[in-house]
Amino acid sequence: MSHEGIRIVSTDEQARQNQEEKPLDRSASAPAKVRVLLTEGKGVEIDWADGHTSAWSFSFLRDACPCATCLEERGKEGRSAGQPKPRPQSLLPMYAAPIKPNSARGVGRYAIEFEWNDGHRSGIYSWEYLRRQCACPQCRLQKDELKGIPN
Ligand SMILES: [Zn+2]
Ligand SMILES: [Zn+2]
Repeated sequence: MSHEGIRIVSTDEQARQNQEEKPLDRSASAPAKVRVLLTEGKGVEIDWADGHTSAWSFSFLRDACPCATCLEERGKEGRSAGQPKPRPQSLLPMYAAPIKPNSARGVGRYAIEFEWNDGHRSGIYSWEYLRRQCACPQCRLQKDELKGIPN
């Protein structure tokens, strides 16, 4: 991979990133129960040790893939984790099989990985990463407050 150019990060973004890098409570990133709803094609649900529950659709997780390639691609396109690629409007909608993993497996005790039905399989989703991507109303509100978005 070629070397990275200089990245210009706005102060806001910097502040947000620092915020996101704060270590989480142990119980906040320890899953008590993980449900991968493969057959239903629905997504992943995690009950955390601190009593919180998170749920994501498979398409969100695919668009939040934490591997270097996907991170770089999202960075270039200005997408946040879980945000889908914009579809070209001029093209007729084509049928695409809904994204879901063919299989999922634990990585050590700290992460889960998926083999997606589009062939991609390089992302390792740590529990901590997943907890930070929690999209429940409560966590979304907190993230918006961090970004300074008034509600
Ligand atoms: Zn990836
Ligand atoms: Zn949440």
